[in-house]
Amino acid sequence: MGERTVFYKVSKEDEYLFQGKRKRLVDQLRTKGITNADVLKAIETIPRHLFFDQSTARPAMLEHAYSDKALPIGAGQTISHPFTVAFQTEKLELKAGDKVLEIGTGCGYQTAMLAEMGAKVFSIERQKSLYDKTKLFLPYLGYRSVRFFYGDGYKGLPQHAPFDKIVVTAGAPYIPNDLLVQLKVGGILVIPVGEGEQQEMNVLKKTSEQSFEKQVIGKFKFVPFLQNKA
Ligand code: SAH
Repeated sequence: MGERTVFYKVSKEDEYLFQGKRKRLVDQLRTKGITNADVLKAIETIPRHLFFDQSTARPAMLEHAYSDKALPIGAGQTISHPFTVAFQTEKLELKAGDKVLEIGTGCGYQTAMLAEMGAKVFSIERQKSLYDKTKLFLPYLGYRSVRFFYGDGYKGLPQHAPFDKIVVTAGAPYIPNDLLVQLKVGGILVIPVGEGEQQEMNVLKKTSEQSFEKQVIGKFKFVPFLQNKA
């Protein structure tokens, strides 16, 4: 075992303090157009303030935990804005029991959303430190069925394919063919595409082995989906 990882204590007091903040965040997300009740319920349930880079986060960051901001999670990466997470999750049209591939585990907040909504989650991360931390942290929070993989998201997980849904949480220069192949017919891929400052959210529905319906909706800012291993 390497360095010992210490997590914030999840206390009853914390919960009372932050529950109100989560309710207000849910109201904000509703105002911004999120309507899926299961997505909003998951946002209301998950203690987002526990997901930041805990070596540098306290105490200033906790104050912003429930504002709609992207904040550092370590290894030069950021947790996505709550709106972005809610938007991507809504676009996945999740059903309980869906087998979901997530690319870019990061701090695991999006992962927890998927698990909270009853998905069977397979999550890939290329940064070893984030992979190591999050695979301990989510079970600690009670999400025990998620499977974590250290590797390159461009390749997906052929050994576990096909997936009902795939979500990429980093800005992609193009849509990787391996991910399209690993999606079930009828499945949905949500991926932000664009190499510059901003990405456009692409939502692809696989209509047959060879065809997709694509919707491009809204502009977002993601850290890059990197092509070579660190
Ligand atoms: N959804 C997460 C992470 C968002 S940041 C959260 O909200 O915390 C995007 C993540 O994608 C980072 O952790 C980054 O290391 C990871 N990533 C970037 N390129 C990748 C690749 N090729 N394969 C797997 N993960 C990758």
